[in-house]
Amino acid sequence: MGGRFAGRNVIVTGAGRGIGEATALAFAAEGADVLALGRTVVDLDDTVRQIAEAGGRAWRAACDVTDEAAVDAVVADAAQRWDAIHVLINNAGIDDDTPFLDIDHARWRAVIGTNLTGAFLMAQAVARQMARTGGGVILHTASVDASGADGPYAAYNSSKAALLGLNRTMAVELAQYGIRSNCVSPGFTHTAMTEQAVGPGLMNYLNGSFARVPLRRLVRTDEVAQAFLYLASDQASGVTGIDLRVDAGLTANLFILETLPEE
Ligand code: NDP
Repeated sequence: MGGRFAGRNVIVTGAGRGIGEATALAFAAEGADVLALGRTVVDLDDTVRQIAEAGGRAWRAACDVTDEAAVDAVVADAAQRWDAIHVLINNAGIDDDTPFLDIDHARWRAVIGTNLTGAFLMAQAVARQMARTGGGVILHTASVDASGADGPYAAYNSSKAALLGLNRTMAVELAQYGIRSNCVSPGFTHTAMTEQAVGPGLMNYLNGSFARVPLRRLVRTDEVAQAFLYLASDQASGVTGIDLRVDAGLTANLFILETLPEE
């Protein structure tokens, strides 16, 4: 299959559903060989099947990104199978809506462990390979919640804000190895995570007349995927250390006048 990523090898974490699934499909559609990672094998198999049916190349491996030994093993496997890992999409994530006063240490650790430490473990293992093979691109799914609070999401918001800091530091430190690092920050996106957060009853409203958002709708997963494709491509060769928001205008809208009471 031809395309911008023909001959490129791409790892996507959290590739079994949602944004990760759409991103895996989009890279494969542009010619990449995709390694789909996640914990639920049946979901990964479905992603690989969709890619194969569309004529693309993909394989999968079960991997919990919080498990350092599992991360090291899967990255070593990928490095052995491929001559080089060209792109990592650090997308696996979980959310948590426990009110601040009730968050226990285990819950805090789970969210930070997945969204921040998991991203770090994957990035470090892959960057070590990329440094050896001449460079690459590492991208992270952050969130608009990295830059503004959406409560009660203390652990989640903290993990995503920290990811922006990790990204900037990686961009600075890894440039010497030919490695670029960037974030994509989706706004409210139509995935299972969102449906669970708001309940299925609100999905029609969010997709049809979402007043808080200038485009009046949720972001689509394929729109987030397109941002990853751009940042991973040679067209973005001068772009490192940024956070690209794909939020349907949400963070551009201060929403002040609309919320004032009638005189
Ligand atoms: P989903 O819940 O649909 O998908 C999350 C994916 O991450 C699943 O495939 C899940 O697979 C995987 N995952 C979770 N924990 C782990 C783990 N420990 N190891 C490996 N894989 C894991 O969520 P979305 O697609 O909505 O979210 C994807 C990313 O986008 C997340 O980082 C999220 O924070 C971010 N985001 C989402 C937004 C939204 O509105 N939906 C907005 C902004 C950011 P499995 O459980 O099988 O491991």
